[in-house]
Amino acid sequence: MDLTEIFSMAGTVGALSQLKFSEVLMDSQNRSAALFERGRKVIPDGVSSPMRAFAQVGRNPICAVSAKGSRIVDADGRSYVDFLNAFGALLLGHAPDEIVSAISEQAARGPVYGLSTEGEYRLAERIVASTPEIERIRFVCSGTEAVMTAARIARSHTGRNLLLKFRGSYHGHSDALLANPANLLSGAGNAKGVSKGISDQLNRDVLIVEYNDEQEVAAAFETHGASIAAVLVEPHATNMGFVKSKPQFHRLLRELCDQHGALLIFDEVVTGFRFRFGAVCTAFGVKPDLVTFGKIIGGGTPVGAFAGKAEFLDHVALGRNVFQSGTFAANPLTVAAGNAALDLLGKPGFYEALEEKGAFVEGLLRAGFAEHGIPFVVSRHGALLGLAFRDSAEPLLSYRDVKTQDYKLFEQFHIQMREKGFLLPPSLEEPIFLSAAHTHEDLERFAREAVQTLHALRSESVPA
Ligand SMILES: *Cc1c(COP(=O)(O)O)cnc(C)c1O
Repeated sequence: MDLTEIFSMAGTVGALSQLKFSEVLMDSQNRSAALFERGRKVIPDGVSSPMRAFAQVGRNPICAVSAKGSRIVDADGRSYVDFLNAFGALLLGHAPDEIVSAISEQAARGPVYGLSTEGEYRLAERIVASTPEIERIRFVCSGTEAVMTAARIARSHTGRNLLLKFRGSYHGHSDALLANPANLLSGAGNAKGVSKGISDQLNRDVLIVEYNDEQEVAAAFETHGASIAAVLVEPHATNMGFVKSKPQFHRLLRELCDQHGALLIFDEVVTGFRFRFGAVCTAFGVKPDLVTFGKIIGGGTPVGAFAGKAEFLDHVALGRNVFQSGTFAANPLTVAAGNAALDLLGKPGFYEALEEKGAFVEGLLRAGFAEHGIPFVVSRHGALLGLAFRDSAEPLLSYRDVKTQDYKLFEQFHIQMREKGFLLPPSLEEPIFLSAAHTHEDLERFAREAVQTLHALRSESVPA
């Protein structure tokens, strides 16, 4: 009897027909691991984006096969309640029917034309109408491109070079935004925010201060105010876990930018459309000069956008100063998915329901932590959640604080939660991403298991 017959008898030929039999035999219990072994031969670390290597949580990465709603299934057939949600791109959860049909219908009419479309204008109109601080918008294919171009406009508009940004933040991987004075030091490696291959001049054109630290920002302006083109900031810091901004922080940034003639750029790639239908700057009462979008507005497809007052955006108009273009910018698939996503986000009560779910899981976590004497701070805004892995009643305010957490404990927590069927972002420096697809039951089970897991891990490490 040959292999085909064996599999055929087991009735598995349908499911396995696309796999090589040798692969199946190699590791039928751990197909994700086998696939990664294969991928590593042709792709560095087997990943196209470094976080997917799960380096911070024991390097046992996942190969995904399919996903729907709040659940994702890996190559071993294991199903997880997903709190990664494509690093926050999927506020609606996986593959909502409305978005799937919008993409399929557009695909049949052609995925890209190299021409403008009515759907693109509709998406632009809806985003501009959502946020009074912006008058114009242009689409690109990633958050990286959006922030890169916003920074270029700021430099062009002011005729200055310096960008001020915050330690531990991430604004995409363009040279200008990976630039960091630390890159000038030898042996810096390629840790978060540090990379070789950036020109020395770009590295010198960046100032880095701690998030939420008014004194450090004021001091930077005191010394360099006349050379600062822009301050680049996230409304909340979402790339160092979840660090909420102090309300007065952005007001100070606005004042300093006005005093010194610098532009204020809000990177809303994560926060845009997450808390309200539009950018969150409007809810904060801060008027940035430029706003970048990404993630959510693509309905699960590659997207980015930069937006702002006409005076700034028109720098990219014909015959003006700044060049930007893109073969796939505002491609019809993204436009279709984005419009379908906005249809769902714009339904009455959408953000209220999301807030209710966020408050529900936050309440359960707080109650469980109190009951078991776990002194971790739970931070939340809408569907973004952060647990501070440290024994302190003080919330995390800056990257300095972030680094005081127990990274080893997080690693164990991640591994055990995964065994219990919950996929968390594979780093303590990412927020927990809730989605509208999470059910109350998902959230109740998640909170219960999270509390129990942490309680058990902490009791193990503390001698009785
Ligand atoms: C994800 C992210 C980016 C980069 O977006 P990509 O689409 O991954 O290029 C930029 N800024 C922030 C705040 C992000 O979280």
